[in-house]
Amino acid sequence: MPFIEAHMHADSRSGEEFERLAAAGCEGIVAVAGPAGGFSSSAGLDDYFRRQDRLDRKRIERAGLKAWIALGIHPVGIPEAGLDESLVGLAEMLKKHHAQALGEVGLERGGDLEERVLSRCFAVAKELDLPLILHTPRHEKRKMLNRSLKLLAQSGLSPERVLADHLDETCLDLASQAGCWLGLSVHPSKLSARQAAEMVVNHGAERVIITSDTGSNPSYLFALPSFIAAGDTQGLPEAQIQSCIRDHALAWLRESS
Ligand SMILES: [Zn+2]
Repeated sequence: MPFIEAHMHADSRSGEEFERLAAAGCEGIVAVAGPAGGFSSSAGLDDYFRRQDRLDRKRIERAGLKAWIALGIHPVGIPEAGLDESLVGLAEMLKKHHAQALGEVGLERGGDLEERVLSRCFAVAKELDLPLILHTPRHEKRKMLNRSLKLLAQSGLSPERVLADHLDETCLDLASQAGCWLGLSVHPSKLSARQAAEMVVNHGAERVIITSDTGSNPSYLFALPSFIAAGDTQGLPEAQIQSCIRDHALAWLRESS
């Protein structure tokens, strides 16, 4: 069954892994910018974006996959200096490096600084009409999502452009009521494939996008194929599984399937 990787930190994965994903049915990868170990300056952030556009895009395409590049300021990767410059220049940086989405962005611990960055990212996504990947943290997930959704409402960016990711049972309702796409991450520190399939059985497949958040930390490279198997075991109809692993992601990206 074909699938789309809607949230992958491709900069920390190898070309061999992209080839294995392609062989397993992957059609494309949204290569998402992460904290990348931190940035000392706005120029460092700009170079990181440039690497994703020039290097990671080619590595993904070389495996026969479609690449969408998502760039943004992760709450754990806020530049130590030159933040004003980064925020003012963000839209230009994204255009220059051909971003097709904005992310991943969100609140990790919360506070004025993170909120300022997130609000600016929402505004830039609205200005450039880009889909956005919203991170939710491991701790105080519901509280941080609630605050993020308030900032989203203030920004005027349409929730149907936003993939609220790493949701769990404690906060799925919030993102659903707000009208966002609902990201369930099959990942060793998040949901198992079985838990994600159970959530779809219980809540329905509407607006659900299964993600892997594969990156530098231990991940499940075959998160989406394992969701397909788990969904099948749980008795999910094939059409619903297909929506969660491919069609909804394409709709969020505004790509025709
Ligand atoms: Zn991520």
